[in-house]
Amino acid sequence: MIVPMSSPDLTAAERDAVAQVLNTTHLSIGPRLDAFERVAAAAAGAAHGVGVNSGTSGLHLAVIAAGVDKGERNPCDLVITTPFSFVASANCILYERGVPIFVDVDPRTGNIDPALVATAAADLAHGGPAARRWLPPALRDGGSDGRLRAILPVDAFGQPADMDPLCATARQHDLIVIEDSCEALGAEYKGRPAGSLGDVGVFAFYPNKQITTGEGGMIVTQRDDWAELFRSLRNQGRDVFDAWLNHTRLGYNYRLDELSAALGLAQMARLDKLLAKRAQVAAWYHERLADIDWIERPWVAPETTRMSWFVYVVRIRPPMERDDVMARLGEHGVPSRPYFTPIHLQPFYRRQFGYHVGDFPVTEELGRVSLALPFSSVMTLDQVDAVCERLRTL
Ligand SMILES: *Cc1c(COP(=O)(O)O)cnc(C)c1O
Repeated sequence: MIVPMSSPDLTAAERDAVAQVLNTTHLSIGPRLDAFERVAAAAAGAAHGVGVNSGTSGLHLAVIAAGVDKGERNPCDLVITTPFSFVASANCILYERGVPIFVDVDPRTGNIDPALVATAAADLAHGGPAARRWLPPALRDGGSDGRLRAILPVDAFGQPADMDPLCATARQHDLIVIEDSCEALGAEYKGRPAGSLGDVGVFAFYPNKQITTGEGGMIVTQRDDWAELFRSLRNQGRDVFDAWLNHTRLGYNYRLDELSAALGLAQMARLDKLLAKRAQVAAWYHERLADIDWIERPWVAPETTRMSWFVYVVRIRPPMERDDVMARLGEHGVPSRPYFTPIHLQPFYRRQFGYHVGDFPVTEELGRVSLALPFSSVMTLDQVDAVCERLRTL
């Protein structure tokens, strides 16, 4: 039995929606984008949605809106974020010459630890030696402490970060909160939708996400001024009232085309069904893995009133080892992935910022034991059974 690692969930509705766009002359900046933005904003409980061509583009624009820039100082603007994530959530800070300040995570959820964030923010606001210890090793001997601008939590694996204490810390120190909800479309925290828990949130629609547009992303915010700014930045820096070749500010081509928007709109109409199917697959795994004592199943926090299952990530405990389990599954044709590989240990981050093994122990431990199993909304019970049987007889 062939079990793919992930798979989009597409029906005739999606194929028709995309085909219809080809009967029009509007292939970019058209009515599908407007409609997709309205539906996505409503789902996130936000006033505005701004479609972009990837989740990474959306995060980049959010970092610009937060005011992160190089400035005169060295190090420059600082953003507190998590090292246990996909690399884009830290890279987007570097695009504006800001410095990601990594803070370790809660071992149960893998989401950024709000108590550590509170300490880091207080130390960084205070300055001096207490502030320096939060900086990347390569920047600790610089002449200045940098200015803390924002907190960028990630809703890892579809589970919202513990946003209330994070937002309280942000209010205390006058910081912007950028919620990376690229893995958490439809999730809820204490009954409130992920993506709208901070000042700005970003969703992503790569084919392995809960819904897909091929490539694509969506920024959501309550702020009218930021929605305008995002629309300008994604479209080469044109303001809405600008003539076509008038560019008010430095912008980008981060536009989402109409074919992608039509696909996204058709997927949004099925969002509840897609999330229910993913929850069913997660429940099948949960039941079937209960009796394997070297597998620890994912933990859902009580604050997570709705989990939006993005991946199904287990932890491999002794006497087994993650890499060994992954290799042996692979020999039997079952794909699996180490998830996540800590950002601070990626070659580029080690080189640029001097990070070492041991800098963020909880993240590194999760990075050593976490294994993502094949997962999607189109996975069948037989496929889940096959994966679980393989694991049981390894
Ligand atoms: C997928 C993802 C992104 C980026 O999304 P793209 O659309 O691939 O650019 C950012 N952050 C996290 C945590 C993600 O999982």
